[in-house]
Amino acid sequence: MRLTRVHVAQALTPGSIVELSPDTASHLAKVLRARAGDELILFSGDGREFLGAVETVRGSRVTASIGNGAEVDRESPLAVTLVQCVPRGDRMDFIVQKATELGVTRIVPVLSQRSVVRLDAAQAESKAVHWRAVAVNACEQCGRNRVPLIEAPTALIGYLGSSTGTSPRLVLEPGSESHDAPTELDGAAEIAVGPEGGFAPEELEAFRIAHFARVRLGPRILRTETAAIAALTWLQTRFGDLRAG
Ligand code: SAM
Repeated sequence: MRLTRVHVAQALTPGSIVELSPDTASHLAKVLRARAGDELILFSGDGREFLGAVETVRGSRVTASIGNGAEVDRESPLAVTLVQCVPRGDRMDFIVQKATELGVTRIVPVLSQRSVVRLDAAQAESKAVHWRAVAVNACEQCGRNRVPLIEAPTALIGYLGSSTGTSPRLVLEPGSESHDAPTELDGAAEIAVGPEGGFAPEELEAFRIAHFARVRLGPRILRTETAAIAALTWLQTRFGDLRAG
């Protein structure tokens, strides 16, 4: 049976004992009914994973011992930044989870002219904290030992005006006439996905100025969350590590 993977937000040292976070501990104690001696895999996000074991379970407090560790690389050779307009409801959670599974390196949540969601600074920060937890959870499940960087939500136009991408920059736009999809990528790409109502004309102009090439993903209009997943699947299949084997 596959061992439960647990993220620990501190450096891990073989021979030491760590207290697991309340959420992780509660899941282990109450849902998985963990007992002392149960083996675990622990990782902190530095690229290594460690064999460990539950040391104590006291109510919903759990400690674990750390055994030997090793670098285990499940990262894609293609570093993808996803610039995602935040959709309404909890669909961003879904996008963060699936993008993490699909090997995304960095997510920049953005708010655009037609975004339904509006966030003040405190809400933006608390959303970022929540999405980081979603990404950690996805890493526990999918085996990644590096957690993607999730930035705090920011205004799209501000982001386009201040960021200078060194990798090819792509914007998903169903109405694009030209198909500028790259045929080669040198290890990295940035891809932007619009909100429910699509990008406004001024935003598409800002993308052009910021050197984003427009890409159309087939003839059908996809929901924003489908578009993000389809784009990452296309990039990882064509230029990364997603292949049947
Ligand atoms: N009415 C909007 C429009 O025509 O732009 C539809 C927006 S769509 C629901 C949300 C976002 O997903 C779009 O802004 C775009 O970034 C992406 N998208 C959806 N389908 C796409 C396609 N076939 N090709 C490229 N991008 C697509």
